[in-house]
Amino acid sequence: MRIGIPAETRPGETRVAATPETVKKLAARHEVVVQAGAGLHAAAPDAAFEAAGAVIVDAPGAFGADMVLKVRSPAAGELAMMRRDAVLVGMLDPFDGENLAALATAGITAFALEAAPRITRAQSLDVLSSQANIAGYKAILLAANTYGRFMPMLMTAAGTVKAARVLIMGVGVAGLQAIATAKRLGAVIEASDVRPPVKEQVESLGAKFIDVPYETDEEREIAAGSGGYARAMPADWMRRQAQLVHERAKLADIIITTALIPGRRAPVLIGEDTVRAMKPGSVIVDMAVAQGGNCVLSELGQTVVKHGVHIIGEPDLATLVPADASALYARNVLDFLKLVIDADDQFHIDRDDEIVRATLMCSAGELLRN
Ligand code: NAD
Repeated sequence: MRIGIPAETRPGETRVAATPETVKKLAARHEVVVQAGAGLHAAAPDAAFEAAGAVIVDAPGAFGADMVLKVRSPAAGELAMMRRDAVLVGMLDPFDGENLAALATAGITAFALEAAPRITRAQSLDVLSSQANIAGYKAILLAANTYGRFMPMLMTAAGTVKAARVLIMGVGVAGLQAIATAKRLGAVIEASDVRPPVKEQVESLGAKFIDVPYETDEEREIAAGSGGYARAMPADWMRRQAQLVHERAKLADIIITTALIPGRRAPVLIGEDTVRAMKPGSVIVDMAVAQGGNCVLSELGQTVVKHGVHIIGEPDLATLVPADASALYARNVLDFLKLVIDADDQFHIDRDDEIVRATLMCSAGELLRN
């Protein structure tokens, strides 16, 4: 099989879907073509891909392969370069019906890796986790860079500096890594989430959990989430959470928000009143900004100062750590390929496999999701 790795062209996208490490493994069994400059931002020069066994080609060469490995969904012009019977693997936005329809119209077979179920067997190919982990780390570094004070407590001859107080809203993969990174920098950390098991995880990392007690069985049941993901909480719980968050935010120096509900707008956790009540010079990193934002004042792709608070709305923080984000993503992709390439090195679709079934968005032009 001929496997193509194009350069990513979406603005701000720095990652690449394969690295010399994964190409070496693929090239042992397949013909691998890499678009010139595909790994430019990810510390993977063409020469390294060539040394790993790939042939360097132009864009039509990479998109014209039997199987195309991408980070983001191809743009219309790129899709036009793909063969009608080609296979596409990438982060294809499974909730974007318009995009999926375009893929189906192009006649291809497409797998959206974000749609993999959260089961143990899928952990090694879980792109949401690998990228969220990096993003959570980078969120703290961006905040520390913008914050005009120290993170750790310092006792110096010139006096004592207090440790920064960090509040993490939403403690999934990104939130846990943000806690761990802030801890390494010496901050004092509090965190909030809807899901009950999170409390123990937060405390095991040395942070304090902000408990919003459940008042009804319905609240408790919704909070448990489904398939490892959160569900939208009832309005009454959200109101009680907002009151508590408002009080904690007044004391915080840095807030990182990561709360997401799959397929829906991100929940609003920080209103304008809360921003107004925060200390001047404090920082909010809204990691949910691309899904509508957890803070009402965040702006997509911008850092703004509102009521004296810096609000960072960088949509895809993993792209700011391109080499490691690509390395982990490429390993996720390689692991996924084991499910759709058989022992004879042929592409096949095993619809009995729940990971294959969940990620398959369209098959030979037939739209399976919308
Ligand atoms: P996510 O990115 O979908 O959401 C981030 C966090 O926001 C979640 O913890 C969610 O509960 C929280 N949240 C949603 N609404 C909120 C609100 N109103 N207030 C506060 N917090 C809110 O989550 P994720 O990082 O993808 O992880 C979700 C869970 O899945 C985690 O427990 C993670 O460990 C687990 N997981 C399991 C597997 C697996 O078993 N294969 C793989 C990856 C993640």
